[in-house]
Amino acid sequence: MHTDVVKYFLELVCIDSESRNERKVADKLKADLAALGAQVFEDEAFLEHGGNAGNVFARFSGNPEKEPILFCAHMDTVRPGNGIKPIITDGVIHTDGSTILGSDDKSGVAEIMVGIKRVIDSGADHAPIEVLFTICEEIGLLGARSFDKSKIKAKLGYAFDSHEVGEVIIGAPSAEKFEIIVRGKEAHAGVEPENGINALRVASEAIAMMPNGRIDHESTCNMGKISGGIATNIVPNRIVINGEARSHDNSKLDRIVAEVKQALDTAVQRYQLPHGHASYEFNNSRDYVAFSIAEDHPVVQLAKKALIGLGIEPKIKKGGGGSDANIFNLAGISMVICGSGMDNVHTVRERIKVSELEKGADLVEAMIIAYSK
Ligand SMILES: [Zn+2]
Repeated sequence: MHTDVVKYFLELVCIDSESRNERKVADKLKADLAALGAQVFEDEAFLEHGGNAGNVFARFSGNPEKEPILFCAHMDTVRPGNGIKPIITDGVIHTDGSTILGSDDKSGVAEIMVGIKRVIDSGADHAPIEVLFTICEEIGLLGARSFDKSKIKAKLGYAFDSHEVGEVIIGAPSAEKFEIIVRGKEAHAGVEPENGINALRVASEAIAMMPNGRIDHESTCNMGKISGGIATNIVPNRIVINGEARSHDNSKLDRIVAEVKQALDTAVQRYQLPHGHASYEFNNSRDYVAFSIAEDHPVVQLAKKALIGLGIEPKIKKGGGGSDANIFNLAGISMVICGSGMDNVHTVRERIKVSELEKGADLVEAMIIAYSK
């Protein structure tokens, strides 16, 4: 591999790696990491999640008096991510619009690889470095969830998986997923509607009373999918609602969940009739757990120092989504998310500036150097 981060990035995005198909990119990264002198290990996360590759973990030995530093990115992309043909126009890398670009998260992968290579090539004394490239981040953080965290010796970690280089995300919300089944009573809609209980009507009344959209500066709630019903001449007896809520504050999240249930109770209560009863089933699960790292924590301070040294303004903020960092923080590793330059992600308009890739690689290099002092 070369130290030109743009070239390396272009190579990576040309390798198909939609979630559960990370094999080829994993093989390339394992070979490149080994060539750089790392001990490389791949787990068997695919046995649990399907697919054809495991998480790739590598360790570069270094000054044994220092604790290791961890860098993390994900190998998988969203769809449509096969046959990507990157195009560079005026310093911006994009596609022809038929696929995503895959800068989410190949930008992070490339910046980490190239930043480390520069440090190794320079012969500079450095702390031990750990690298984790995960699978299936985009379909529920599956790789990070099943990775054996006891392999990680670092206490500080950096996921490169966000927008502008300079961003340092120090918190992310918890999320709760719901599947709600509302039941009514079937009847012929034209002949005997009075014998039916319309589950779609009950569900709609409940949804109208639920918390919705932005609840406050750190909480949201969204019913995102509704399905059910068979025909216009049948009073529907079963409707399924799928939704989610997020908050940086777990007690607020619990309150939102309680309010969603309260809305269902109230709606269902209106339809306890002599000819039948409405009811509901509520299935909820905590999708991922919030994290919040103080601005004066060493993991934030190091990123800030490296950014300032490069003349890039640090933008410390909280994020609105879950990522592998939620999983590692829960496991006791203080991990922030650094911007890697990606833009318009999860769309075929995805793009990244060449200059952002260069800044990202500079940042990885600068962080290792600053950390190793
Ligand atoms: Zn990502």
